[in-house]
Amino acid sequence: VTSAPRERSPRLAATLLIEGGFVVTVDANARVIDDGAVAIRDGIIVDVGPTAEVAARIGPEAERIDARGCIVVPGFVNTHQHLWYGLFKGLGGGLLLERWVEQLLLPTAASITAADAAVSSYLCAFEMLASGTTTCLDHSVTATDTSWVDGVLRAVDRAGIRTMYCKEIRPSSAGDPLATAEEVHARWHGAAGGRIGIGFVVESTAHWVAARLVSEDLILGAHGLATNLGTRLSNHTAGGTMAVEFGYLESVRRTGRTDIGFLHGLGVLDDRWVLAHALNVRDRDIELLACSGAGVAHTPTSESCRGGGIAPVRRMRGAGVPVALGSDGPMVDTSVDMIEQMKVALMLQNQLHLDPAALTPYDVLAMGTIEGARIMGLEDQIGSLEPGKRADIAVFDLDGPGDAVWHDPIAALVLSKHGTDAVHVLVDGELLVRDGTYTRLDAAELAALAVEARCHAVEAAARAGIDAPKWAFR
Ligand SMILES: [Zn+2]
Repeated sequence: VTSAPRERSPRLAATLLIEGGFVVTVDANARVIDDGAVAIRDGIIVDVGPTAEVAARIGPEAERIDARGCIVVPGFVNTHQHLWYGLFKGLGGGLLLERWVEQLLLPTAASITAADAAVSSYLCAFEMLASGTTTCLDHSVTATDTSWVDGVLRAVDRAGIRTMYCKEIRPSSAGDPLATAEEVHARWHGAAGGRIGIGFVVESTAHWVAARLVSEDLILGAHGLATNLGTRLSNHTAGGTMAVEFGYLESVRRTGRTDIGFLHGLGVLDDRWVLAHALNVRDRDIELLACSGAGVAHTPTSESCRGGGIAPVRRMRGAGVPVALGSDGPMVDTSVDMIEQMKVALMLQNQLHLDPAALTPYDVLAMGTIEGARIMGLEDQIGSLEPGKRADIAVFDLDGPGDAVWHDPIAALVLSKHGTDAVHVLVDGELLVRDGTYTRLDAAELAALAVEARCHAVEAAARAGIDAPKWAFR
């Protein structure tokens, strides 16, 4: 896993034409094109429009991908993910967040190794690619050093997925936490032709501050560093259960301090933040978010698995807060499927508001694509199908038995497809999944990777003292 990036899969002709599909651009005009085409040259989208027009402009030499019967969308952007959680799938059931942190996160985080994280990241990258996800933000929750980061980033580079790795800045990080973070940024930001970016993680939620896992000085220092380097800060915010006896809400009840109000009070709440969860935000918090430009990574399946409640997504969007989607780590809900995030986000809001149009299929598709790019600061590069953007594209077949009949292809994608249904997935114009098959990994390599990941998972769980079911992996 940690060897050098392999050769890119053989390039197609200089120009690639995805033609004949139902193209949903998710651009500023929400343009959809029946029998549409996307032309790609040197990793960049160079033309989008009706197939006949684009084909005439591009000429006959382009290599063609037949997308008839398919929907063509921007690759999905997963704005909150923990790649090493992939080794602990299936162990988090039945636990409220606060118990899950004590019983699962703390022991696993203390025992996982850099090699475990690299293998999990590599496997998880392929799981995401198969589900049409082309970009993810990996939020570090462990105290890591540069060799750990190198292992994870070599793995995702090898898989080909676009990744923003957010390096934790906390007192327990190796060496001087700010200097190490800056070193990681200098080493990796913009690597792999720009596919890899570096942001930072600062945890400022009430329990962390109370437990002295972070200090106000460190939050200010990290924000200053992110501002100087022009990058993002990922942060778990206003999460936890709806219980007021413990966790975040207990802290709010006792102190009157909300996570958003705290950042505002420190003078650092601005558009650098990718705020995961934002589950228990109050009206004043929503106003502060809207004024600041900070982004929210809504994680609906994660909250649902833990019985954590429903974030006020419609109210935040209505106030002008950019809200994107994230899967959270697979140690929580066991899946990184972004279509699942879209569907669950829609259903939860419709239930919460007793309104079947609280969120529409198009709304959640935008949250899973352009809104994700926006809150990660990448909206000029990815998130929509427009000339000049990087060619990060997912193609889903709408000809299967479950969706051969549809009247609204966007609803069909969001409500009846599954992440694993992507037929073609491109990052930077490279077909990483073609006809449902990985191009950078053959079947034997995939099988070997699965065995390797299982071995790491069993050993890591044992080291953590986790009482995994005896039937695991039999
Ligand atoms: Zn998280």
